Amino acid sequence: PATLGVLGGGQLGRMFVHAAQRLGYFTAVLEPDAQSPAGLVSHHHIQTTYDDPAGLAELAQLCQSITTEFENVPAQALQTLAQTRPVAPSAAVVGIAQNRIEEKAHFTACADVSGVTCAPYAVIETLAQLQAVQNERADLLPGILKTARMGYDGKGQVRVKTAKELAAAWAELGSVACVLEKMLPLTAECSVLVARGWDGQIVSFAPQRNVHVNGILAVTAAYEGNMPSVLADRARDAAVAIAQHLGYVGVLCVEFFVVDDGTEHGGLVVNEMAPRPHNSGHYTIDACDASQFDLQVHALAGLPLPQSRQHSPAIMLNLLGDVWLDANGQLQEPDWQAVLRLPGTHLHLYGKLDARAGRKMGHLTITGPDVDGVKAVARRAAALLSLPGLDAI
Ligand code: ATP
Ligand code: MG
Ligand code: MG
Repeated sequence: PATLGVLGGGQLGRMFVHAAQRLGYFTAVLEPDAQSPAGLVSHHHIQTTYDDPAGLAELAQLCQSITTEFENVPAQALQTLAQTRPVAPSAAVVGIAQNRIEEKAHFTACADVSGVTCAPYAVIETLAQLQAVQNERADLLPGILKTARMGYDGKGQVRVKTAKELAAAWAELGSVACVLEKMLPLTAECSVLVARGWDGQIVSFAPQRNVHVNGILAVTAAYEGNMPSVLADRARDAAVAIAQHLGYVGVLCVEFFVVDDGTEHGGLVVNEMAPRPHNSGHYTIDACDASQFDLQVHALAGLPLPQSRQHSPAIMLNLLGDVWLDANGQLQEPDWQAVLRLPGTHLHLYGKLDARAGRKMGHLTITGPDVDGVKAVARRAAALLSLPGLDAI
């Protein structure tokens, strides 16, 4: 059988492997960690660093085509692989998504076709730029200073209220390239999954509504009525336009803010994009007839992209390591018996061996015949596991 390759061994890679195996593909995962979620379930595990030329050559030699599950993989590794094999998404678009400065420039460049802009921002790469922002961009405060590269789950971000706090925050972040974004009055957040093939065929999912707690995704609500339909349509169209403008191949997730701008439904602002399947799309495994991982496999293998149909309303609850820690910080297995007695619960655990606070260990998706029932079960599950965020939906 043909083999599909993945750079990175995390849970996204693991769920990709599961989807690939269902279609009869073999998989190869390149990942330095011996006990990674994806490496443990893949046919081949090339255990080396992402920039090791010998490892990359072995991956290319084994695989028909290759993707990444880890957005901070060195873009150069994708470039190297692309010399001999189809790679999706490309090094060029992953490079854009890895750098908030380039990402925002891209969003701005395609604002005419996407119909959305990003939050007002300024680039801070030098002391002179910092001082110029301090003197001339009072409109950006209060704001959030974000490192241009390597941030995720709210890491690499500092909230600042004054020009003085801004200077301190930039120093605290190591004076690296950053963007200062204006703090917006969010009324909601959502994200859209798009899949695009080598031939330009494009399909999308309806927007899912997301709740973040401490900068980390806590809850995703995916059902009709999770947000006003005018906004949902605009978000979906915008994500499709952004993917097309990039010439993207594979699954792309675009995150949006809904802001209070005085209009009836609020305004839509594009936040950032992930060049891969996304945590907010995990509900598609249990609630849709083709999951985001199925679509990633189809895109990579050059198969037709089905327009996925959601057959059940769903709520996804993220399971961070905190769920395993008792009041004294001791590890304790949660009461899965009680959770799984609730109707429509689908437990996904990623096979990670050590639970740590804030670490993504798994997720729980609740599906059912109607939205009210799904919400009720989600609340009971959240109470059993002390999970936050549900009161926001
Ligand atoms: P991810 O894990 O999604 O990649 P990240 O670390 O890249 O997260 P962002 O998506 O930039 O971070 O921000 C994390 C969260 O912080 C957002 O989902 C939102 O709740 C809040 N946030 C970020 N930027 C703003 C802003 N300009 N105004 C208000 N809230 C914001
Ligand atoms: Mg991000
Ligand atoms: Mg984000």
